[in-house]
Amino acid sequence: MSEFMETAVVLAERKLIERIRRLAQTTGHRGVVRGIGDDAAILQVAKNHQLLVTTDLCIEGVHFRREWHPARCVGHRCLTRGLSDVAAMGGEPVACFLSLGLPPKLPQRWVDDFLKGLVDLASQSGAALAGGDISYADKIMIDIVVTGQVPAKKAVLRSGARSGDRIFVTGELGGSAAVLKQLYAGTQVTPMKNNRHFYPVARLDAGVWLRQHGATAMIDLSDGLSVDLAHICAESHVHATVDAVRLPMAEAADLVLALHGGEDYELLFTVRGKAKLPSKIAGVQITEIGEIQPPANSRTRVRLRDLNGRVGPLKPAGWQHFSKTC
Ligand SMILES: [Mg+2]
Repeated sequence: MSEFMETAVVLAERKLIERIRRLAQTTGHRGVVRGIGDDAAILQVAKNHQLLVTTDLCIEGVHFRREWHPARCVGHRCLTRGLSDVAAMGGEPVACFLSLGLPPKLPQRWVDDFLKGLVDLASQSGAALAGGDISYADKIMIDIVVTGQVPAKKAVLRSGARSGDRIFVTGELGGSAAVLKQLYAGTQVTPMKNNRHFYPVARLDAGVWLRQHGATAMIDLSDGLSVDLAHICAESHVHATVDAVRLPMAEAADLVLALHGGEDYELLFTVRGKAKLPSKIAGVQITEIGEIQPPANSRTRVRLRDLNGRVGPLKPAGWQHFSKTC
């Protein structure tokens, strides 16, 4: 390939759409009656199921940086955000839709690697790539819509928590933010496949299990525990107390990162006080971290019992993407 081709050309729109269409055919077709190639996709939801739809926008410099995040990992991360939302409803993925804004001088290699990361994860997760759009843009913009299905009226909502419910999380907290802190500090971090900052995993199997076994409320941890638990409390009209000593901290994370770091894509869920749960769900460790309380006369809905046993307000101070520096 000539240097010109390598550095200056994003395939013309029609060619790129053809390429995406070929790749899309490798991502499976369960639930997709008609994918790319007509005016609209046709999706089939299983009998007595409802359709879930979630949308996420990823912008270069805000959600990822080309110098930190390889293209393949950007494709993976963008799709994970939508898959994780489907997991948090207790659903299973059906299809995804990708709209791209690409700078004219973006190397073709970047687009190829990005698509590889996205298509690989789409195939693994059962979210067939079923449509999208392409345009030129000043910087890379990626809009991903993920659809899923869930048995009718069985989706786990944010609004189902009640006083006396116990609060749990899957996996470990603060790991993604710990890597980001290292990147900001100028530390070289190798984007290994098993690193949950670069290649996060949506807890789809755990989400389905929890829907089937009585989770009362659920959300995925995209913005950080302090923010996402406040969402459950607001929607459920309850308050909550979290025990600092019980938080399952990732290696290299500290309490601040575990409380406020984002993009772990673990599930935060509640169950009734007497519910019995195994220590692992779908192969993932779960940890009880606190309890739901009746609404109180306080503006801060979440409180933290710190390492000394003192209880005080936990202000939502979650992940702000790269907004401080970009
Ligand atoms: Mg979410």
